[in-house]
Amino acid sequence: MYERSVTAGEILIKEGDTGLGASELYVVKSGEFEVLERRQGINMRVNRKARGDCFGEVSLMYSCPRSATVAALQDSVVWVLERQVFRQYMQEVKETEASQVELFLNSVPLLASLSREEKLMLVDALEEQVFPAGTCIVRQGDPGDQFYIIKEGEAVVYQQTPQGMRTVNRLFKADFFGERALLTEEPRAASVEATTKLKVFVLARNRFVEILGPLYSLMAREKSPAVVTQRLMKLQTKGTPTHLPAEVLVKRKKRLRGGGETWEVVRARGHLDEVQELRASVPPGEKQPAQVVLTEGAILGGGAFSRVSIVTEETSGRQYAMKRMRKSAVVQCPEHVFCEQAITRNTAHPFCLRQYASFQDKLHLYFLFDLMPGGDLMDVLVAEARVIKRRIAQGAWKRACLAPKVKMLKGMDEGLARFYIASIVLALEYLHDNSIVYRDLKPENVFIDSQGFVKLGDFGFAKVLESGKRTYTFCGTPGYVAPENVLAHGYNTSVDWWGLGVLLYVLLTGRQPFSSPKTDDPMVVMRRIVDDNWRVKYPPYLSGQAKDLISRLLERKPTRRLGMLNGRAADIKRHKWFEGLDWEALEARKVEPPRRPRDDSAKRLRELTDNERKQKREPKETPEELQECEMVFADF
Ligand code: ADP
Ligand code: MG
Repeated sequence: MYERSVTAGEILIKEGDTGLGASELYVVKSGEFEVLERRQGINMRVNRKARGDCFGEVSLMYSCPRSATVAALQDSVVWVLERQVFRQYMQEVKETEASQVELFLNSVPLLASLSREEKLMLVDALEEQVFPAGTCIVRQGDPGDQFYIIKEGEAVVYQQTPQGMRTVNRLFKADFFGERALLTEEPRAASVEATTKLKVFVLARNRFVEILGPLYSLMAREKSPAVVTQRLMKLQTKGTPTHLPAEVLVKRKKRLRGGGETWEVVRARGHLDEVQELRASVPPGEKQPAQVVLTEGAILGGGAFSRVSIVTEETSGRQYAMKRMRKSAVVQCPEHVFCEQAITRNTAHPFCLRQYASFQDKLHLYFLFDLMPGGDLMDVLVAEARVIKRRIAQGAWKRACLAPKVKMLKGMDEGLARFYIASIVLALEYLHDNSIVYRDLKPENVFIDSQGFVKLGDFGFAKVLESGKRTYTFCGTPGYVAPENVLAHGYNTSVDWWGLGVLLYVLLTGRQPFSSPKTDDPMVVMRRIVDDNWRVKYPPYLSGQAKDLISRLLERKPTRRLGMLNGRAADIKRHKWFEGLDWEALEARKVEPPRRPRDDSAKRLRELTDNERKQKREPKETPEELQECEMVFADF
């Protein structure tokens, strides 16, 4: 952190600001500030901040416009912390901590047969505990189910024998004890007492078994050929994709100012990605790139930086979804676009959106995707959600049959949600097996095809993770992010299983688990997400199995989360909530989707055109900006 002086009357934060300053947190060292919010055009004072107070915490997480103005009431001094510095620091601290624990584990012979990845899992699962000198940590004859590694201090091991008490060992830093209880079902064979203040890492038996399987089989288990082959099979993607260079003409109808219409043609260059259908319709060119003609039709949707419309390929008549992004809008974070390109190009799963081509013109980047005309899961949720009335035993109403009826929101039926969630479990399992974290699970990103099957779309936040590695970037959508993501503790595929828990909750209840009708302030929501004491409330109409599954996915400690245990995704598939589901038939698309998409495209189109009208005119790029875009996206 560094100090900054602010003179009386100076504005430190301006409401709506999104610039560089919007990534800073301030702590008041001296002086006083007022917090102003714009309400009906007038700045109202809503708070004061004095020595020790801080503001702008949310900016340490992610970029969002400042929600209030903060101005100095007198000459003041603040401490400033920038997001990048903070996150870098957190990453370093976490990595140092983790690598110290890892060093310890490397010195434990019992664990020598573990792979680095398994050790890293252990690192996460170990909990630190401190005992004062003289504490008896393990008592002979007691049932034992904890395993200890000494981090600091000394202990003595003694045994009661018919001849009397006998010291059998002394333990120091990096020594371990309690492993016998993990290997056998026998009671403790000896007692262990701290002779100094003792810091230990503790691992409960069930954690050990869950994460690594029983130790003996683990030691015996080298990689069996069957296991290895199975893994390799899963890891196979489309193979090395062939990229066919292509010239793409995008034809678009344009309204003339004086009335009437004309065709506008945009010429783009790019490549087709191993697309049988598309390629078959493209005549093989003599050294020249293949030419594809796409005619743009209705708009399907739009995100922060994108616009998606239906296009028809001229020769085959086949329809696709074309996502168009303005280069200047994404040039600040090009890695997202490149990740989306690389990932959707290389993945091949029935429930992941598939890319057929990517290309660019001077101002835009384009993707050609599967057409998903059924809208997204949010549309389904909106159509299916109901307000129901229910009697609840509560307070004075001990018996539900006497209590008055309470109105409450209910999401979609559990059977319908099961179909969607199961499809997503399969998609995530496939992505994780291919070392991809998705990171942005939410109903808006799950698209529905013409038959009613779903596909995971919008891979803008997805990332390839080397095995055993973690990533630290905060990303996702506030209500859906996992605690380890908020806390910058480093994370991997665990965040997707958390996201699945949130998604399931949202589909069944029509609400987010960590927001309430009173607040959707992202800072409050994220505080609840990381707060071990804040409990998710489950509406009374949820089945016990659904509650159980959600709560196991919304487990704050990633190593305890369902999906991260020994069985990985298989543990989720085996959960009772999915009982009776034929996973293979689902993956083969041999089941009947429970809900056919309705044609509400007209309604959606209306909303979209409304939105477009509200949006400002597209920006005009300066020559310098254009040059930058050209350089950054040269390889797109
Ligand atoms: P962003 O990265 O800007 O959020 P998305 O990829 O999520 O962009 O697309 C924005 C919207 O466009 C989606 O919410 C959806 O409504 C629509 N959309 C995107 N891809 C398709 C598709 N393949 N088929 C149909 N609609 C789509
Ligand atoms: Mg999106």
